Amino acid sequence: MRTTQAIIHLDNLIHNIEIVKKQIPPGVKICMAVKADAYGHGAISISRAAIDAGVQCLGVAAVEEAAELRDAGIACPIILFSLPLPGEIPALFYYRIIPVVASKEFVLLCNQEGKRNNSILDVHLKIDTGMGRIGCHPEDAAAIAQTIKECRYVNMGGICTHFPGSDLKDNSFAHSQVRLFDNIIQQIKENGIDPGIIHAANSRAIINMPEACYDMVRPGILLYGYYPSKEQKRSFNVKPVMELKAKISFIKTVPPDTPISYGMTYRTKRMTKIATISVGYGDGYSRLLSNRGEMLIKGKRYPIAGRVCMDQCMVDIGLTSDIALYDDVTLFGPPPAPTAEEIADIMETIPYEVTCLITKRVPRTYVAA
Ligand SMILES: *Cc1c(COP(=O)(O)O)cnc(C)c1O
Repeated sequence: MRTTQAIIHLDNLIHNIEIVKKQIPPGVKICMAVKADAYGHGAISISRAAIDAGVQCLGVAAVEEAAELRDAGIACPIILFSLPLPGEIPALFYYRIIPVVASKEFVLLCNQEGKRNNSILDVHLKIDTGMGRIGCHPEDAAAIAQTIKECRYVNMGGICTHFPGSDLKDNSFAHSQVRLFDNIIQQIKENGIDPGIIHAANSRAIINMPEACYDMVRPGILLYGYYPSKEQKRSFNVKPVMELKAKISFIKTVPPDTPISYGMTYRTKRMTKIATISVGYGDGYSRLLSNRGEMLIKGKRYPIAGRVCMDQCMVDIGLTSDIALYDDVTLFGPPPAPTAEEIADIMETIPYEVTCLITKRVPRTYVAA
């Protein structure tokens, strides 16, 4: 197996699930976001471990992602967070995927398909209370709920919305969304319709807005061991699940002013040792880390020397370290390694993207303790 590996610490995942369970009111369900191959961690293994740890529902972004989980034998409810195309409706029935719906037209198409194959599809009505992405206009929600009620082959399994302020300090916009959402739910109930499972909270809302937990929460990033933003108060003690590791493939001693890597952007200041690591942007270790990132080797951090190549990169390990050929290198992971949050900072992005970027070439190795 390739020496460059993503070690997936399932014990940390379980720890993070326990932390979220303690935070939410008793009886509130967890729908874990496992879209994008579980934020790069591997959807099947993550889903199995999460279900064993008490997660009741999974969230994906594509019909294919749900199909992969069903083909692996995962039987729990799976919600499709993105809107499917009409051509995907038969697959929703076949794989028992719960779509979010935002229009009467789509509900009617689902009903037609249900009539054709004589089965009922659970849907969750998605309302756009301020995210500006998908969801019906708040004014249209009651009418769509009515349509769902009138459709024999479509069942109102739930109602949901989403908060855009995942990296804001201030909760006031989210509070106004909650008020709007509550009013819509109230109206739908007054019309004699059971809204089903009510859900809204992503990781940030779980931390900051316990009143928005409703019947189910939809955490993603927290369960992978990171906070949704830098501004977020660090009160949860979650632990990173992914650890990206590689090995030193070559070490050389070089004189001062030796250029290192493409573009010769790094020149040694003194006589030093340069280690080559078998990882690069082809593995999802971003080229933005060139001359800026650090790696952990034998408990100490060393700077990346020069550009990150597609398959390799170099580190200046100095003359005096006892680092040897084939030693392990940690690119990111639980501290004291650089965390995905630190890497994200350098790349001017968020930890979500750092773990999602790790490519298929990197085998995921699952460890339980
Ligand atoms: C991705 C996603 C989540 C999870 O968001 P985190 O910030 O990772 O907790 C929740 N709900 C929806 C609709 C999503 O798309």
